[in-house]
Amino acid sequence: MTTRASSALTRLPRGLSRLGQCQLCRSWQSQPICAACLAAWRHPIRRCLRCAIDLPHDHPDTVCQACEDQSPEFDRAIVAVDYSGPWPGLLTRLKFQGATALAKPLAQLLAEAVQTRRGRTNLVIPVPLSRQRLRERGYNQAWLLTRQLGWQLGIPAQAGILERPQHTQRLMSLSAEDRLLQIQAAFQVSPHEQAAVRGRDIALVDDVMTTGATLNACARTLLEAGARSVSAWVVARTPAPGKNGSLQPTQETHRLT
Ligand SMILES: [Zn+2]
Ligand SMILES: [Zn+2]
Repeated sequence: MTTRASSALTRLPRGLSRLGQCQLCRSWQSQPICAACLAAWRHPIRRCLRCAIDLPHDHPDTVCQACEDQSPEFDRAIVAVDYSGPWPGLLTRLKFQGATALAKPLAQLLAEAVQTRRGRTNLVIPVPLSRQRLRERGYNQAWLLTRQLGWQLGIPAQAGILERPQHTQRLMSLSAEDRLLQIQAAFQVSPHEQAAVRGRDIALVDDVMTTGATLNACARTLLEAGARSVSAWVVARTPAPGKNGSLQPTQETHRLT
């Protein structure tokens, strides 16, 4: 690891000390999630190769019915874990409570999921926050994950390529169709970064995937700007509705903020 990268790493932790407790089992650790907890809470799940939704055991295909009916804009979604068990709590801490040190172990989980299916990816970028949201929060959790993934996988990472010029609010009061139109219109490729997109195989990184509408809108924006392909890399995906014992985040708390 270069000196520059390691000094950037030491700057990363905020809200958590470097030597503290595992955020899950509370044992004393140098890592915010200990190796035993990472192993214990990661269950291999059979997923749709396009959108990464969990597939029923008896599903005859590698792609879910929804993707058969209408393919997402991204080539493939890769997720590390279901949004259930301890993961919603950890992701909430990363996103809303300044626990930015969690980006490293969560990105590590995602990097492991990506390893075998990273394809030709030669650029990783985050799903952007609006400027207003970025000001309020002080950081974009998706960028923290992206930066870590770039280091861990040896792929260039860049912020600022996709922009979210307007702050979208109250989307829940809109019809599903109007909501999709709003989300689609929310993103643009920065006028200064058009050349960075053309011909690239891009992985879009986010913390949570619910309906996939945001990732889809981002992917379409990148493809329209000339990207060769877009994948979605996400730490956690909400399980298919009705799955036993699964937790469902609401649109308000996760997808649209
Ligand atoms: Zn632990
Ligand atoms: Zn699917």
